[in-house]
Amino acid sequence: MDELAQFIDARLADDTRSLGTAQNVSRAYTYAVGTMQGTTVLMAADRFRSEIESKRSILAAHRTEPYDDDPTIGFCEECQRGGAAGIAPCATLRQLGVPYASHPDYRDEWRP
Ligand SMILES: [Zn+2]
Repeated sequence: MDELAQFIDARLADDTRSLGTAQNVSRAYTYAVGTMQGTTVLMAADRFRSEIESKRSILAAHRTEPYDDDPTIGFCEECQRGGAAGIAPCATLRQLGVPYASHPDYRDEWRP
């Protein structure tokens, strides 16, 4: 797993922990406090849970395969199917990391 993928995986773990504090503030929905682009938000727990699952699926689909001649870099297995993957992290993972750009561990080099 490349460093951006590890970073996103850690932020998704943070998001999942946020769900542990979900509180009933309405009869209709259970809400969770989460973060989006560095801003604390209150959102429906089911939607938050669904977004985490969706992001985990995208993360799993965009694994980095190291180059044989230089294993310190690699390409995205999923994006390579189109023949123009370039060097990982791919555009999809870069976009997936944007909501967490205000985190102190986020690197500018990951920006799309
Ligand atoms: Zn990809």
